[in-house]
Amino acid sequence: MKNNDIFLSPKHGLNPSILHCICCGEDYGIALLGKLKGDKEAPKEISQGLCPKCQNVVDQGGALIIEVRDGETGDNPYRTGRLVGVSKNFKEKYHIEHALMYMEKSSFSKVFGNVTFTPK
Ligand SMILES: [Zn+2]
Repeated sequence: MKNNDIFLSPKHGLNPSILHCICCGEDYGIALLGKLKGDKEAPKEISQGLCPKCQNVVDQGGALIIEVRDGETGDNPYRTGRLVGVSKNFKEKYHIEHALMYMEKSSFSKVFGNVTFTPK
């Protein structure tokens, strides 16, 4: 059976996965994976891409700064759950090179104080 470009899985139909934003973790959509290799069931949740709110910050030239625990390194540091979206001006003023970056809690608190907000 064919539905546009998605091949339905005989066992799992559209085989949906919930998409989570890699930045803020919010659910922002559903991926229909259809028939996978070996007709496997899709994972219930996938962290991939940015939600519209986070994407909007990046599209406007800003950056997303994610707070992580002090001393964390590597590709998947422990996140505290706080993040901020900063403007293009802020990004340029502080020479932030990447649209998405981690900042240790001690630095984050110095720069942003106790603010808690998510990108709009
Ligand atoms: Zn997001």
